[in-house]
Amino acid sequence: MTVYLNGEFLPESEAKISVLDRGFLFGDGVYEVVPVFGGRLFRLEQHLDRLDRSLSAIRIDPPLDRAGWTRMLEDLVARNPGDDRSVYLQVTRGVARRDHAFPPDVPPTVFAMVSPIKAPDPALFAQGVSALTVPDTRWNRCDIKAITLLANILARQQAVEAGAAEAILVRGGFATEGAASNLFVVADGVIVTPPKDTSLLPGITRDLVVELAHKHGLPVMESAIPEASLRDAEEIWLTSSTKEILPVTRLDERAVGEGRPGPVWRRMFDLYQDYKRKLRTG
Ligand code: PLP
Repeated sequence: MTVYLNGEFLPESEAKISVLDRGFLFGDGVYEVVPVFGGRLFRLEQHLDRLDRSLSAIRIDPPLDRAGWTRMLEDLVARNPGDDRSVYLQVTRGVARRDHAFPPDVPPTVFAMVSPIKAPDPALFAQGVSALTVPDTRWNRCDIKAITLLANILARQQAVEAGAAEAILVRGGFATEGAASNLFVVADGVIVTPPKDTSLLPGITRDLVVELAHKHGLPVMESAIPEASLRDAEEIWLTSSTKEILPVTRLDERAVGEGRPGPVWRRMFDLYQDYKRKLRTG
């Protein structure tokens, strides 16, 4: 595997980072995950917009401009051929003696690598997945795609240990998102997802699902989801760049709706696949 580190493409085994890197010592950095379908970076502009917002929120000057990111990412993808893949891109505040305050004049560390996206098991779309509700113990800037993911990791692990695929985080009586995914429910035939605020990551897949619903006349609403209405939902979905749109058919060991992927999910799943196909061939 060829990776990118600070301006160079090199074999993964030769890519080395200092133990003083602030990403390592503090989790002081941000990241992106961009899927690659049919050899093309999917929704790249939206991912780079979000990267800019994350960098600006933690006050790191962008180490590359839009054309520079695009060139580097396309080059990295070309050097790692394969089927569907994703690019992981990370920027940290760089290498300096350990001190909480920002070090002056230190260049950020920029790292990127390509990973395969595992094709989903067809059984998963026939049966859906289980999810577990977990208290949201994260900080108050969940809109920043920070590499500091301890609370997400603990939540996901709790879900996995309970035999579930994902944790759905609950804060102040409202379900916000998954440990690494955004949340949708279908209630009275209306697709509902929480509005974008500091309690959740503005997912690129989430935005595309909302866009496709508007475009194809499916009723959709951005509105807070009380935990109780999660339990009455006809359908629950989780979205992310690599998992796309996952139907949740069991929540806390109880069936969601009729306990199988619902008709609104099916329609949205087909719209999403159509959109991907058109981009591939377009
Ligand atoms: N929410 C969180 C906390 C995430 O980590 C992710 C992605 O990993 C998402 C939502 C989904 O975002 P996207 O659709 O941009 O992959």
